[in-house]
Amino acid sequence: MTEPTITPLEPMPGDWQRALAVVAHPDDLEYGCSAAIAAWTDEGREVAYLLATRGEAGIDTLAPAECAVLREREQRAGAAVVGVERVEFLDHKDGVVEYGIALRRDIAAAIRRHRPELVITLNHRDTWGGVAWNTPDHVAVGRATLDAAADAGNRWIFPELAERGLEPWNGVRWVAVAGSGTPTHAVDATPGLERAVRSLLEHRTYIETLTDEDPETYARTFLTESAEATGERFGGRPAVAFELFGR
Ligand SMILES: [Zn+2]
Repeated sequence: MTEPTITPLEPMPGDWQRALAVVAHPDDLEYGCSAAIAAWTDEGREVAYLLATRGEAGIDTLAPAECAVLREREQRAGAAVVGVERVEFLDHKDGVVEYGIALRRDIAAAIRRHRPELVITLNHRDTWGGVAWNTPDHVAVGRATLDAAADAGNRWIFPELAERGLEPWNGVRWVAVAGSGTPTHAVDATPGLERAVRSLLEHRTYIETLTDEDPETYARTFLTESAEATGERFGGRPAVAFELFGR
């Protein structure tokens, strides 16, 4: 028997100034990623959030119109905790986000507006690794984001964007996928972990419908355990993992 080889995760590139995080739902970035985002904003980098939906189908006991308002408020509060002031919503429909031209165009438009060097998204694959099935919204938004990073730089793919004054932006150098079953890179979670807990806690109404556990205990346990597990491949430091696609 030979021991399985554990490939270490590489440190994320640091030579960038602006990032745009594109995900499907309020809370997608708070389940881990926000520890990295807190560290980045501490370093003076700009990070903006773009959400495809308002997560309006996320709470069984709350009608979508009411839920959308609440979850937007929780998302803006969760972003502010980690130094993110710009939070935008595309208003695709929660639960039935369609991968396709319309989604790619909306994300490409946002990339042209924000002009990020780093784009962040959530796992676009069918599973979280193993047999834990991913949700169709994450798959659609993750794939469309990987595609839109290129679309944003091509004048002729969505010519209507340039007509609206959104000039091509071919400056995206990487797309970092969080929650991937096959990560390649990581960020030290230590400096941002406490704020990551507080950012997840801002989704209190949502968390209270998920678990009977005390929300703070739930948020702290989840984030600490996953950062420590990632740390086993990052020199023992608690970490947030990404699968990095270069461009
Ligand atoms: Zn989600």
